[in-house]
Amino acid sequence: MSQGFESTDNTLQADGVALARIAAVCGTPCYVYSSGQLDRNVERLKTALRRALPASNQPLIAFACKANSNLGVLNHLAGLGLGADVVSGGELVRAQAAGIDPARIVFSGVGKSDEDIEYAIRAHVAQINIESAPELERVVAIAQQLGITARVAFRLNPDVDAQTHAKITTGKEDNKFGLPAEVITPLYRQAAHTSFIDVQGLSVHIGSQLTTLAPFREAFSKIASFARQLAAEGLPLRSLDLGGGLGIVYDREQAPCLDGYAELIRELISPLGVKIILEPGRLLVGDAGLLLARVTYIKKTKTRQYMVLDAGMNDLVRPALYEAWHEIRPVVDSAAPPEMYDVVGPVCETGDTFARDRALPPLLAGDLLAIMNAGAYGFAMASRYNTRPLPAEVMTRNGHFRVIRHRENIRDILEEEAIPAW
Ligand SMILES: *Cc1c(COP(=O)(O)O)cnc(C)c1O
Repeated sequence: MSQGFESTDNTLQADGVALARIAAVCGTPCYVYSSGQLDRNVERLKTALRRALPASNQPLIAFACKANSNLGVLNHLAGLGLGADVVSGGELVRAQAAGIDPARIVFSGVGKSDEDIEYAIRAHVAQINIESAPELERVVAIAQQLGITARVAFRLNPDVDAQTHAKITTGKEDNKFGLPAEVITPLYRQAAHTSFIDVQGLSVHIGSQLTTLAPFREAFSKIASFARQLAAEGLPLRSLDLGGGLGIVYDREQAPCLDGYAELIRELISPLGVKIILEPGRLLVGDAGLLLARVTYIKKTKTRQYMVLDAGMNDLVRPALYEAWHEIRPVVDSAAPPEMYDVVGPVCETGDTFARDRALPPLLAGDLLAIMNAGAYGFAMASRYNTRPLPAEVMTRNGHFRVIRHRENIRDILEEEAIPAW
């Protein structure tokens, strides 16, 4: 049986399940995740790490939940031995509900609330990555008040240009994330001598959808030399968290070589002899998901031809937010000569455009198509804009599919609101 997304008998399938069958049962728009592709992606990363690093120092792979936080997806990844990187109290609860051991959960994020911090300390997460001096103060106060030791690491802002989209660059000096080394040093010293605080080490995350290894080399070199400096002072150093950011191929970009990435870790981080943590998100789930949609109308104007879908920017915001390019595939292969279309959603914004001037075979209202590589930052960023119910999510495995999130309906949305009876 085929694994992943492949065409068989001229129709696109997910792990051997015809997408048309999923659309008939679950409706559209609908996210479809291939567990076979998830398996492959995790195995590819693990293989590269196994080749480069000794068995005794294999990194903890903490999946960045914000890329795709569906319980079914998280549970599947947990079954493959992954931990989690969470950026909110909500994601922490999700990761636990999906069966991930808190000892394998890292808590990142620049604006953790008191409630989030208390919950994380009580849950005994592997580490809380500290992003500011006032946040450290908060964590210290809450840990001491609870009488529970909090494991912390400091997020270094290495001032490295990740050479990616400005909205997903996080490691430049003028980004809100992390702290420069000279600010961390005194905080690290102080934390090392604070009761109920257990300093683990450092973390770094420079951005998302990186397509070259050079920025990783720069960031890993900086975190390693800073870690050496701290250890030389006799300060505790148990772990280095190298973040995520590995890019995937959406269009014609080059994906970074995983063997090269693992080799960088061997060369720059391994010699320190500490526990290594990685936080990949997109790399593991991006190409394992697609957004299944139906053509609502073909609309022709004097100058353009629009393919209006039943999916919109509220379902998949990446094109509108990041000018992201996504492959669009008709579910049924066609040999007809392609025509040029603007592929758009129904939302009342010109930004609600999935593709402009895209060559596609002529499709009719009712035909299905798939927006590919939508497994990362797809549903996770979906909204109800225009009072559009959130789409369904489905997972496939060896010829079977299961709904892992029911489609919302309008009643679900209205039930959450109230008209005040003054
Ligand atoms: C978003 C994020 C990640 C994951 O980034 P990807 O590009 O999806 O790999 C990892 N770590 C932190 C702290 C993040 O904010």
